[in-house]
Amino acid sequence: MTRRRREGVPSARVSAGQRALLLSIARTDASFERMELQGRPVWVGRCIHCNSRLVLESDGKPVGSVTVEHLVPQHAGGTDDPLNLALACARCNHLKGVRQDRDFGRDPAVDAMVERLLRKRRARWRDAEDA
Ligand SMILES: [Zn+2]
Repeated sequence: MTRRRREGVPSARVSAGQRALLLSIARTDASFERMELQGRPVWVGRCIHCNSRLVLESDGKPVGSVTVEHLVPQHAGGTDDPLNLALACARCNHLKGVRQDRDFGRDPAVDAMVERLLRKRRARWRDAEDA
């Protein structure tokens, strides 16, 4: 995949900036709750696509794979506005995310999917929770 770097990377290599971005999305996504996992404070929420469980450590480091999804792709004018960003599991990021990027604006079914995801993100929106 060369056209655009997907943002899922192994946990050990997640930069401080990336962790801050992951956290900022979790804080504004009402599917994410603060919980304890094996004695550690974590955020647990849901993939924007498939609702599978996503876990971030309290500093934003993904437990397993958590990726940032631009709902409207960047090449189609999608911005870093928090309402255009959502968290996705790696599987969805690689399957649905790639299709979204490639076919947005060209395939009405993909445009409708993106519209649904934007509505889902807005429905899950909350004002940022403090860490
Ligand atoms: Zn998923």
